[in-house]
Amino acid sequence: MVKAAEKHMDRPKRHAHPHVHYTVCDSLMRYAEFLGFGEIHTKIDTATGLKAIIAIHNLKRGPAIGGCRLYPYTTIDKAFEDAMRLAHMMSLKAAINNLPNGGAKAVLIKPKLIKDREAYFEKFGEFVNDLGGRYITAMDSGTNMTDMDIILRRTPYVTCTSTLGMDSDPSPFTALGVRRAIEAAVKFKLNRDSLDNIHVTIQGAGHVGYFLTKELIEKGARVTIADINLKAVQRCVDEFGVAVCHPNQIFDIKADVFAPCALGAVLNLETIKRLKVSIVAGSANNQLAHHHYDTLLHEQSILYAPDFLINAGGLIQVAVLYNHRDIKKSIEQINNIYHTLYDIFERSAFENIPPNEIAEKIARDRLQ
Ligand code: NAD
Repeated sequence: MVKAAEKHMDRPKRHAHPHVHYTVCDSLMRYAEFLGFGEIHTKIDTATGLKAIIAIHNLKRGPAIGGCRLYPYTTIDKAFEDAMRLAHMMSLKAAINNLPNGGAKAVLIKPKLIKDREAYFEKFGEFVNDLGGRYITAMDSGTNMTDMDIILRRTPYVTCTSTLGMDSDPSPFTALGVRRAIEAAVKFKLNRDSLDNIHVTIQGAGHVGYFLTKELIEKGARVTIADINLKAVQRCVDEFGVAVCHPNQIFDIKADVFAPCALGAVLNLETIKRLKVSIVAGSANNQLAHHHYDTLLHEQSILYAPDFLINAGGLIQVAVLYNHRDIKKSIEQINNIYHTLYDIFERSAFENIPPNEIAEKIARDRLQ
């Protein structure tokens, strides 16, 4: 009897199977199908604490590119959802801007402590390398250029490395794209060739808001800015002499252009009614609180510049530098946002369909 008990104790301990939330898996799979995926890969490495998801949305136009986000997700399904949602958005951004790339995103579920950051990112680099070039990784929130340099030890499929000589902050490039978009909208809607004395209200004086203010002031525009962070506002006042308004009042100001550069979902039933501008063009992702609110803007004769088209300056810079090692070429392509957007405005007016719908259709057709 004793012998039998001892034998039993020697056997590896059986772990109860973790509870599997079939409903969550099921809905994630449906979400993936709905977004038109694609591939979703995962890697777990207990030694380094790596828990990584790589969501590759589309490969039709070329290798999929997208940032690597390091974030302490509270649940695994939130991490999967984020990876899929962001990868899908990258596909649309790349396709509408004619990049020879599909969209992807890597999400790293940040552990409480990364004991050895080099080993952690080397392991992630191996994961990227295992995908054989179908995914090119890049910097995103939570990761930096040093991390990208570590990844480079294990795979060539990484951009934003110090060897490419690129800026570690994509915001100036994003701001350039938004400024070009504002110029296209001003030309189309107001028939003006310059931004001289054009009044732009900007929500958010953060990374993009700051550089956009700089771009606009240099072009002779008048800027009114709002931010809940008073230090960020003060910096723009001190450096560019802009006007300031309370964050709650930014939607009520009579101006030519409203540039949302803070949060998503700012264009909702309440705020759209309050707008007293003829153009909305800003950097924030997912500005429309509901997919169909572009119709409301269209009906109110407010020209809406699709966010995923005009905020892709950072992505264009990263992708073109990786593909061609040519910074001049990347600036040229960001400048091209002007023409892409202008063509969409013309088609929108001709077909009487909101520009956002047209842009999404073009991008989706290119991904088929
Ligand atoms: P950021 O965090 O540097 O700046 C956002 C600013 O918005 C902050 O200063 C914050 O205080 C302010 N803010 C938050 N809530 C506000 C409110 N209710 N009213 C007014 N201001 C408020 O971010 P960022 O990098 O400048 O990006 C801005 C937006 O553009 C985000 O939606 C981001 O996803 C999007 N975007 C950024 C880039 C980029 O290159 N940084 C690229 C594409 C899209």
